[in-house]
Amino acid sequence: MKCVICRQAKTQPGTTTVTLERNGVTLVFKGVPAQVCPNCGEDYVDEEVTDQLLKAAEQTVRSGTQVEIRRFVAV
Ligand SMILES: [Zn+2]
Repeated sequence: MKCVICRQAKTQPGTTTVTLERNGVTLVFKGVPAQVCPNCGEDYVDEEVTDQLLKAAEQTVRSGTQVEIRRFVAV
């Protein structure tokens, strides 16, 4: 798809790092599959993947961890 930020390039499959903050908890996911714009670097993460990230974030919040960095593993 065409990048909606810069409108200059088409996005390409790649990976990105997603940071989520919830209730004072910081969660960093590395290696998240995404469509990445080669021009401006904007990344687009699928809704399905976002759902998985949010579910993992909720589990981390419940576990009482303050900061967590993990590699994304597709379910
Ligand atoms: Zn772009």
